[in-house]
Formats: sequence, C-alpha cells, structure tokens
Amino acid sequence: MPIPFQKQHFSNRFHSLGKEFYTKQAPTPLEKPELVHINPTVAQLLDQNAEQLNNPQFKAFINGQELPAQCQPIASIYAGHQFGHFVPQLGDGRALLLGEIKNSHHEYWEMQLKGSGITPYSRQGDGRAVLCSTIREYLCSEAMHALGIPTTRALAMLNSEEEVHREQLETGASLLRLSPSFIRFGNFELFASRGQVQQVKQLADFVIKHYYPDSLTNNKQLNPYAHFFSQVVKKTARLLAHWQAIGFAHGVMNTDNMSILGLTIDYGPFAFIDHYEHNFICNHSDYQGRYSLQNQASIGHWNLARLAEALLSLISIDEAHTALADYEVHYSQHYLLLMREKLGFYHSNADEQALEDQEKLIFSLLSLMENNQVDYTVFFRKLSNSNTGSTLESLFLNKNDFYSWNKHYTQALFKDSRATNDTIKEEELRLKKMKKVNPKYILRNYMLEIAIQKAQQGDYSEINTLFKLIQSPYEEHFNQEHYAGLPPDWAKHISISCSS
Ligand code: AMP
Ligand code: MG
Repeated sequence: MPIPFQKQHFSNRFHSLGKEFYTKQAPTPLEKPELVHINPTVAQLLDQNAEQLNNPQFKAFINGQELPAQCQPIASIYAGHQFGHFVPQLGDGRALLLGEIKNSHHEYWEMQLKGSGITPYSRQGDGRAVLCSTIREYLCSEAMHALGIPTTRALAMLNSEEEVHREQLETGASLLRLSPSFIRFGNFELFASRGQVQQVKQLADFVIKHYYPDSLTNNKQLNPYAHFFSQVVKKTARLLAHWQAIGFAHGVMNTDNMSILGLTIDYGPFAFIDHYEHNFICNHSDYQGRYSLQNQASIGHWNLARLAEALLSLISIDEAHTALADYEVHYSQHYLLLMREKLGFYHSNADEQALEDQEKLIFSLLSLMENNQVDYTVFFRKLSNSNTGSTLESLFLNKNDFYSWNKHYTQALFKDSRATNDTIKEEELRLKKMKKVNPKYILRNYMLEIAIQKAQQGDYSEINTLFKLIQSPYEEHFNQEHYAGLPPDWAKHISISCSS
C-alpha cells in the first residue's frame, strides 16, 4: 500500500513566503498510535476513500512517521491579542503544516497536524493535544460544517498510549485538519508590530492572490488591500451572525484564533447553548466574560480593528474606518435574516413595518427565553413542527409569557403569508423550510463528555454515534430522540473539565 497522496497533487505554496514566516520542523510521532476515526466526507475532499485510508500507511502518515518526500512540515509564526493584551510572539506551538493537496475540483486544501510535538513556538507547552480536546475539535468542526457554518475541517483523529500531563494524566492524541488556509489575523499582527512592512505586504499579496483574487480586479476600483480588508470584515461579520443564530459560543476569540478566511478555527472551550442566556460564558478562565455570548459580535469588530491596524502600511485610516463601519450593518442584516428564517418569516417583500415587527419579536423572544430558561435548540425545532405553538408552552416557566408572545407571532406570520396569498400548502412548506434551519441535533457539551469518557476507556462507539447525528442535524434520525431533548439534570451546569 503506497503512502497516501500523489506527488503531482501536492504543493507547499506557503513555503514561497520565505523563512521569516515559518520554521521547518519534523513531527514527533505519538507512541502506539491508534486510528480513532476517519471522516469520509473530508476524505472525499482529497479524492480519497475513507475505507481505503483505514490502513497502517495512513496511520503512519498522520502520526508523522512516514511522510511523502514532497511533504516538508513547517510551523508558522504569528502574534495575537489574547484577552485584549498583545502577545508579541506566538505561533504553531503544537501544529505543523504538512502541505496542501489540489483535488480533482482544483481546490487547494492545506493539511495541518495538531498535537504533533514541540515546535520553536511551543513556549512552555509540550506540543501535544490530549484526547478530550481532540475529540471535541474533531466532532465540532464536522457539526459546524453540517450546520452550514464556515469552519476548518478534520480528516482523521489518532489516540495513543503516550502520557500527557495536564491537570491530570491524559493520553496524547492528534488530529489532521484541513483548511484552504490557516492564516490568522495574528500572522499580520506579528510583522506589523515589528515594523516589518515588507512582510505585511508580502503576506497580504499572498492571501489576495490565492484567496481573495477579486480584490485585484474589484469593480469598485478600490485599493486591492482595502478591498481585501473589507471582504474579511464581511466574512467575519457573517461568521459571527451564524454563531449567534445557532447559539454557538467560541470561548477564546483571541486574534490568533481568527481566520483570515472567516472560518471557525481552533476549537477550545466552545459550547452550543442549552437554555438561552445572553451572558453565557463557556470558558472558565474568562473571568470577565470578555467572550460571553452577547459580547462575541462586538469582539469580532474589535479583532478586525486590530487587523486593520496591522494593515495600516497598506490601507489608509479612512479605508480602514469605511470597511469597519460596514461590520455592524453586515452583522445585523445577516443575523436578522437567519433569525427570521428560524421563525419562518420568508417573504422578502415584507414591508418596513412587518420587518420591524419581526425584529421586535426576535429580541422579545430571546428575553423571554432567558427569563424562562428555555432551551434554545429545542424551542426552535418544536416551533418548526407545529404552527399552533401548543407544544411549546411547556418549555416556559411562565406560560403567560409565551401566550402573549405567541399571539404577536401568529399575527406576524399571518401578515407574512398574506403577502403572497398563502395557502395551507404554503404553510406546510414554511414548516419544512424551518426544519432546514432549526437543527434537531446539536452537539451539546454533555454529549461530548459522555463520548470522551467512553473513549478514555477505549470505547469509541459514542464518537461514531454522535458523528452520524451531527453530520445531518436537520434530519429526524429514527430512534435517536433522546439526543434531541433537553440535557439531563446532571449536565445543567456542566463545567468543561477538558484540558487542551
Ligand atoms: P490556543 O488558545 O489553543 O489557540 O493556543 C494559544 C497558543 O498556545 C498557540 O500558539 C498554540 O500553538 C499554543 N499552545 C497551546 N497548547 C500548547 C501545547 N500543549 N504545546 C505547545 N503550544 C501550545
Ligand atoms: Mg489558537
């Protein structure tokens, strides 16, 4: 069996940036590796078949033991604002870029190994990732993709018998993840903070050439760098709107965890919310709630402002301000669109007053959900099952709160449907559409905890089960109802004990 990935499809475009941007670094293989899972959909992205990849050569490949000759692993250097404070030098402390594959659709996918040992940027770290955090990233990145939220992907996951010291003894694991690019805001911040404007330009030229080619020919005839920045602003705003609408809290929105492509990257103490809570904080080290659910959108803007500062040798202050000013509008438009869809308002020809009423309904619902501790995912899914609202009142502590909101909601729906001469058939269609945006299954932290505990005992069955559910979260999945209900009592205030 040959080592996977053909030579002619392999490239290392990031290498062309030069040695200021990275250090060559060989992986340190894990002891006694075991393949835990291979993602068939992601395998297809590389024109591979997951079953055929399930072999010792692939295991040796993703453990960094047997790399193809054309593969020259590197760790990239970046900086970043962590919890609001600038850290002048960070980098891939436990990740290595193996190179990229050009698939049969002419798409480039960079491959990054996470947990592959010490690099020059490991600082005090051991260069390892532990099993629990690896399972969390593996499953959550797949869940996000299936929910239609831009994200890095994960091809496969390894466990091992290597001991890794965290708060307690854990086993080392690793992940092979894919993205068109792993470049972060922090890559730009590093060079800008050192006054290396030539490198800032080189990096921007590289990103524009490969990922934002429209910026070179943009019809607004903007400075290409200003156009590029405005596109990053838009992508980031949309990403944040997506997170908010699905109820996802990232937990560590440092600028070194912000993708230049607007993808969800670096899954740490993330959580999908259970009952709705504006001030939900999923990261227990986030004492001030900097990255709470309600702060995420404005932190997205703050992070973009740090990126703008890093680009000031290429764009003017006015250009930076103009692009940043679009963030709020773009975020709100996208968020409201997603929330309207969740509530079943689909008619784009709704008048101003109707749109205003719908907006009020969205925000009053969120407050009611918070006061009544209503589960976010369960509520919207139930709403997509019935047009009467009768099954929903049980979710509210104060039923009158719900009745009064529902009265206005029903009126707004009526208005929305009258806009196009609604029929009963159209009502059915509306519920059908709602089911495509309101997931039945969400990867709650308690589910991950169970899968992790089993995996720590060598039983990977729960990972397989969850994987299937989250790959099609909008489907019914016969006989799996217990994964679609409220979290069990023991999980109400679950604290993520998982180390990274
Ligand atoms: P994170 O908050 O996980 O994105 O990590 C912040 C920085 O710390 C990144 O530069 C990581 O590469 C680095 N890092 C995190 N954990 C480790 C580890 N166990 N060993 C080495 N570097 C690490
Ligand atoms: Mg990170």
